[in-house]
Amino acid sequence: MVRLRSRLSRSQNALGKGLLSLLSREHLDEDTWEEIEDILLTADVGVQPTQELVERLRERVKVLGTRTPDELRALLREELLTLVVPEFDRTVNTESPLDTPGIVMVVGVNGTGKTTTTGKLARVLVADGKNVLLGAADTFRAAAADQLQTWGERVGARTVRGPEGGDPASIAFDAVKEGAEIGADVVLIDTAGRLHTKTGLMDELGKVKRVVEKHAPLDEVLLVLDATTGQNGLVQARVFAEVVDITGIVLTKLDGTAKGGIVVAVQRELGVPVKLVGLGEGADDLAPFEPEVFVDALIG
Ligand code: GDP
Repeated sequence: MVRLRSRLSRSQNALGKGLLSLLSREHLDEDTWEEIEDILLTADVGVQPTQELVERLRERVKVLGTRTPDELRALLREELLTLVVPEFDRTVNTESPLDTPGIVMVVGVNGTGKTTTTGKLARVLVADGKNVLLGAADTFRAAAADQLQTWGERVGARTVRGPEGGDPASIAFDAVKEGAEIGADVVLIDTAGRLHTKTGLMDELGKVKRVVEKHAPLDEVLLVLDATTGQNGLVQARVFAEVVDITGIVLTKLDGTAKGGIVVAVQRELGVPVKLVGLGEGADDLAPFEPEVFVDALIG
């Protein structure tokens, strides 16, 4: 995952560098600890995790006494890694326990990168030898089905789509049904996400989920969040988690932000792991989320 590292390090390692330089000060007074807190909060780590981290750092730095740069780096690495919860299972589950295609539903607010992520994920699965079928159930955004179909053609996956403004649940159902008929390995369903009508979204997503589950269990529900939207992303996460059981998070646009701390905050919020990260607009710019690589990129 050299790419994850290099992509992240360009925008992110200001965070780790800033923390390391503050921790290296000879006298760590209250002001310094506050500056450390500010850095973490600015990176969207969230209030509670920030306080916990600072408390633990204070304690450990005190015990350590004099600090060499290597010791500080190791300590910071360990503490940041704890926050990122390395023990989460981050496998994207595309296998059905039954003799049916694995079903992955991709949800999130429009503009976060849902369709792009669905396309990129299809590419990864096809490259892995899987027969992938795409379901274009985002019938709200006019160009979404075209966009998904273009991705499908690019990566070698068929797209099931319906009329613009059609019923997302029936398209999702058709996709799952066709997936079973043609013996697809995985069906990826792209959905709509307009948050300004929360009730509409709830009803619609809930219906898509129910209709799909009549046919086969959902193996993975990925919530796509735009890392650049900061705390707003957390509000979105809460809303979606009320409607569907999110099993994994995809954090997109991490290439364009220094706010990687949202990884910590959103995992806490939902209690589910970040499984994938989006690192650009290109077909190859989707990577598994690897805690160690991520933290190393932060520290630089
Ligand atoms: P949707 O409305 O949620 O389906 O969003 P789209 O998939 O259409 O993506 C919205 C915009 O974000 C497009 O211009 C994408 O190219 C861009 N985008 C998606 N993922 C990433 C990413 O990881 N990094 C960057 N820089 N741009 C992304």
